[in-house]
Amino acid sequence: MFYAGVDVGSTTTKAAIIDVNRALVGTSLLTTGADVTLAAQRGFDEAVTAARIEAHDVNMIIGTGYGRYKVTFGHAQITEISCHAKGASFLFPNTRTLLDIGGQDTKAIRVGEGGEVLEFAMNDKCAAGTGRFLDASAQVLEIPLDELGPTGLRARAPIKLSNVCTVFVESEILSHTARGRPVEDIVGGVHRAIASRSVALMRRVGLEEEVTFTGGVSKNIGMQRAIEEALGTTLNVSELSQHMGAIGGALFALERSEGDHAPRGAEVSA
Ligand code: ADP
Repeated sequence: MFYAGVDVGSTTTKAAIIDVNRALVGTSLLTTGADVTLAAQRGFDEAVTAARIEAHDVNMIIGTGYGRYKVTFGHAQITEISCHAKGASFLFPNTRTLLDIGGQDTKAIRVGEGGEVLEFAMNDKCAAGTGRFLDASAQVLEIPLDELGPTGLRARAPIKLSNVCTVFVESEILSHTARGRPVEDIVGGVHRAIASRSVALMRRVGLEEEVTFTGGVSKNIGMQRAIEEALGTTLNVSELSQHMGAIGGALFALERSEGDHAPRGAEVSA
């Protein structure tokens, strides 16, 4: 018997499948794109293939993320806030604060002992200081996204960014390059600016250790280090951090099919 979480984010769709022993047997990751329903289906199908099982072997499917209602084949939907908290406290049981930086939003969550959500804060409506801001920075500097982190680590005198607005990032970065500032220092400054914003968001929910970092931006080693420096402590980060919401969804699926009987299609708040 298998259980799935399908996390349809604004930027990427992730799915995770676990077995009855909570072992992860398959994952998938793809760009969400314009057809959100298709992304949800493909995310699930690709995770099923990766797990080397058949779709009908999956007992229960939970949809999460901004596009969770597009997981039309799912049995229930749960917010990504609850799913990230669930996944994070499964992988890092001492998690008390969770920072999730995704493609278009940043969330800080205070987590209880069992992975329950105690407090939650989110960045404003715009994408300032989120993955999209980093994507725009990488684009204007003409460096691949996965090199942002290592590049930022080489900064010797990080620039001071005046704001983290995605609309202005291009012109601000270009003005620094025109003044001959090294790319490393620009990227280092971008990371620092986002780190300080993220720490402020975590303080709003009551920062407590251990701190777990999730979402696609947690793959950026430069962001990890910048946040650790701003916090003065180390972060829990896993190779699976981008899949934390999907894993949390799969864990909810397992628990609900063992215990409770959530009606098909119901929004379940945890
Ligand atoms: P969402 O769930 O909001 O759709 P994710 O949590 O998957 O988004 O995060 C997407 C963001 O993660 C991208 O915008 C990008 O900035 C960042 N990202 C993804 N992969 C990498 C990588 N290899 N290195 C650095 N950043 C990455």
